[in-house]
Amino acid sequence: MTVAVVLFTSNLRLHDNPPLHAALAAADEVVPLFVLDGHIADLGFGVPNRRAFLADCLGDLDAGLRDRGGRLVIRSGRPADEVCRVAAESGARDVHMAAGVTTYAHLREERLRTALESQGCRLHVHDAVVTAVAPGTVTPSGSGSDHFAVFTPYFRRWSGQPLREVFAAPRAVRVPDGPGSEAVPDRTAVTGVAEGLATGGEDAARKRLAGWYRDGIEEYQDRQDDLAGDSTSRLSPDLHFGTLSPVELIHRARAAGGPGADAFVRQLCWRDFHHQVLAARPAAAHADYRTRRDHWRTERSAAGDIAAWREGRTGYPVVDAAMRQLRHEGWMHNRGRLLAASFLAKTLYVDWRIGATHFLDLLVDGDIANNQLNWQWVAGTGTDSRPNRVLNPVIQGKRYDPDGTYVRRWVPELRGLEGGAVHEPWKLPASARDEYAYPEQVVQLADSLARFKAARDLT
Ligand code: FAD
Repeated sequence: MTVAVVLFTSNLRLHDNPPLHAALAAADEVVPLFVLDGHIADLGFGVPNRRAFLADCLGDLDAGLRDRGGRLVIRSGRPADEVCRVAAESGARDVHMAAGVTTYAHLREERLRTALESQGCRLHVHDAVVTAVAPGTVTPSGSGSDHFAVFTPYFRRWSGQPLREVFAAPRAVRVPDGPGSEAVPDRTAVTGVAEGLATGGEDAARKRLAGWYRDGIEEYQDRQDDLAGDSTSRLSPDLHFGTLSPVELIHRARAAGGPGADAFVRQLCWRDFHHQVLAARPAAAHADYRTRRDHWRTERSAAGDIAAWREGRTGYPVVDAAMRQLRHEGWMHNRGRLLAASFLAKTLYVDWRIGATHFLDLLVDGDIANNQLNWQWVAGTGTDSRPNRVLNPVIQGKRYDPDGTYVRRWVPELRGLEGGAVHEPWKLPASARDEYAYPEQVVQLADSLARFKAARDLT
């Protein structure tokens, strides 16, 4: 009787899961294991919204395994210790897991490999699980660089890569009796969770996936920036926790075809793009990818502005709406993220890391590769080829929320204002402004632009 362990990390699914597929093909019995890793909490990543979503994912994974005759084994501790213990308890010689891209993921993998080898076991690390194309697979020809720093040429090469096949969910999973499990975490035990947080788990994810391919993807190209229409897939938490597979999503989008599906695949490529940048430059999680010699304003010099931004009280309605959506749902529309991030980093000229940390504290899809590198893109310290562009929140608000529906949804103080007038409440006569109890702008845009240009030496 051969036994293998599958360590689940950012791939909390039964469909299209290469480590699980490989373990089931090679062994008679499999131990599906998840380790609640205290170090992730110590790093500050174990925030309520993601802990609650994770609890859903683990509960659903356990239920899916039980439907197939198995169960999920949950342990708390250090992954290397717990995996070795479970391997010893079950007599497993092989352990399968997905490759990660962060510094911590690499460290975890190395520690695990060393610990397993010292007890005569092997670690098998699988690519194309968390991303569709593994970081490092495509590199710019002739430049000697180990990654692409510009999206468009990456997208061209990425698009030509063969994708592996999609693996069906297993029909049966035989788990040995030996290894005991802790209780599956309970979402209701997590406090401080956003009121509008989505439900996690593969079952909920596959329902969202089916709805998206049936009703949403076709119009995606035309509607992806429509703030009020909310017409993006909302699959980012499912991709972050790996309850959906990017390989499967791309195969299905290509099979559907059309401009909407093409635009969707391009967005999924952005995800792989940021992962390959982070894999090659792990320091980009906290340090400028390309320095612009900024002397950012910080908590000490800009405390009031930062607090107004976090609370959605900057006086710029579309920015405030986006920040309040984040707090209410633990999620924000991509156009909102761009506007809110540009406002903090460029209009307020506050260190992008302060904004990125606030996003990571609340986003259910909060992800080192996507969050830190998108923040750097917006701040102009990342891969944007126009690093000094500044988004004007009034013009952008009118363009992407022309009749003000998004603002009225999230900023109740302004509900009485009609149409696009909601984007410029300061134009109301002073007497009417009192009626709306909405804050004054924290800064005038002309002043903030002059400050940014001076800081970046653009004058
Ligand atoms: P859709 O528009 O339906 O796109 C489909 C998928 O493509 C997304 O689920 C996501 O996985 C991927 N994707 C789309 N846009 C991007 C992008 N710009 N970069 C990388 N992947 C992308 N995304 C995260 O998953 N986690 C984060 O922590 C995160 N932080 C961000 C911070 C800032 C400042 C900005 C500007 C963007 C950030 N994004 C992040 C990217 C993007 O905003 C979200 O992925 C998207 O809004 C999620 O909504 P959706 O699933 O409906 O996306």
